[in-house]
Amino acid sequence: MASSSSFLAPSSTSILHSKKDLGLSAFTSTSSISSQRCQKTGFRRICCSVAAPQQSQRQPSTTGSVKTAMTMTEKILARASEKPYLTPGDNVWVNVDILMTHDVCGPGSIGIFKKEFGNDAKVWDREKLVIIPDHYIFTADERANRNVDILRDFCHEQNIKYFYDIKDLSNFKANPDYKGVCHIALAQEGHCRPGEVLLGTDSHTCTAGAFGQFATGIGNTDAGFVLGTGKLLLKVPPTLRFVMDGEMPNYLLAKDLILQIIGEITMAGATYKSMEFVGTTVESLNMEERMTLCNMVVEAGGKNGVVPADSTTFKYLEGKTSLPYQPVYSDEQARFLSEYRFDVSKLEPLVAKPHSPDNRALARECKDVKIDRVYIGSCTGGKTEDFMAAAKLFLASGKQVKVPTFLVPATQKVWMDLYSIPVPGAGGKTCSQIFEEAGCDTPASPSCGACLGGPKDTYARLNEPQVCVSTTNRNFPGRMGHKEGQIYLASPYTAAASALTGYVTDPREFLQ
Ligand code: SF4
Repeated sequence: MASSSSFLAPSSTSILHSKKDLGLSAFTSTSSISSQRCQKTGFRRICCSVAAPQQSQRQPSTTGSVKTAMTMTEKILARASEKPYLTPGDNVWVNVDILMTHDVCGPGSIGIFKKEFGNDAKVWDREKLVIIPDHYIFTADERANRNVDILRDFCHEQNIKYFYDIKDLSNFKANPDYKGVCHIALAQEGHCRPGEVLLGTDSHTCTAGAFGQFATGIGNTDAGFVLGTGKLLLKVPPTLRFVMDGEMPNYLLAKDLILQIIGEITMAGATYKSMEFVGTTVESLNMEERMTLCNMVVEAGGKNGVVPADSTTFKYLEGKTSLPYQPVYSDEQARFLSEYRFDVSKLEPLVAKPHSPDNRALARECKDVKIDRVYIGSCTGGKTEDFMAAAKLFLASGKQVKVPTFLVPATQKVWMDLYSIPVPGAGGKTCSQIFEEAGCDTPASPSCGACLGGPKDTYARLNEPQVCVSTTNRNFPGRMGHKEGQIYLASPYTAAASALTGYVTDPREFLQ
């Protein structure tokens, strides 16, 4: 048996070692190991089917102490449903800690709530609903503007505590309550807490799993029900475990890690499964990088992603929330559907080629792809750390961009950071100064921007059939605007490097 701790990229040096997907029925089976040659790369792939330790049938815990091993996700849902233990496939009524909605799905959810619970009905808890306009904000589109008006009217009517409103579209800074992209605003405003259940009418609500909580996207109908009851019927997902060890090379970011995983398991590889991220590399990531990791689990079909809360989490939360929270962790004997192991030190910068997030390739394999523009923004790649990474690369190169380079900070706080926080090693310069010197566009008003295209007048929307390297999370046809546009998903390092050459570029050209 090959070392069980090395799991390599699909590159020329890659070997994969994984516990192959066993299926729930295989939990008590014995281990098996198979070795196969990867047809794509010609390199050896070793698959290890390793059964979880033999266990007797689960017994209910009657004393409150954990007598039956559970994963983090199972534990969070058990507590939220007031059950002593849960097993994958159980359907349970879960008490919701936070429900988030935004300007795209909020009006529809409110409509369902009013239809089903009555025009005069009150939401179940005015302090547990968070409403964040963020998608179609800086536009003259009347229907988009109307959606924000509907949210405002509802929040006034219901006396909602957390409504991050925007009224003056001509200057976002004139709106002190306005935040920007919901998933980043939720974290920055202290709504993400370990051990809790956070639901949102947006598929990337899974981002909050970075805080060791259960976070997932739901539809408008479910949200309408939660608005009235504070509960939702959820099926407990089985868990895939991703163990990432090894020192992260200075040219990689969390975006490379999640593109690696999605490329490995495909877009359907985690369908209705929880994805738990552990290992020394994950422990070394800051909160924003952990958010990038969890943000894209839905691109593999994942129900949720989770990172165990630790001192990094607790430090981030300091001063952001005064509410008590209780982290939970997977038991040692918890049963995972599969386990994948990565030696991160051997990975290389990646991209996802058009038109799927699992269309993985090494950035250097795409060096002949000429590009028209670069976009740095979104809940995946528009956080302060993402811009810091891009600025670091621009600084290291000392060069100017060769294609239009659009910068869309996720939130108002990120925007302020770009103008106020010195980039380490830059002699006091901020990101905004470095971007200006590199010839990038001025950082735009914070919002989802062109991540999902939006109305025609959306800043940086792909209105032509162009090729774009983007730090966003989806590259389906039409995602950023034009149906024939081609989007290469990449890390902020790779995006910045590509901006400097006008081709998809491996950031090692500038970082080593
Ligand atoms: S930034 Fe993009 S992916 Fe994130 S919430 Fe907005 S539209 Fe969705």
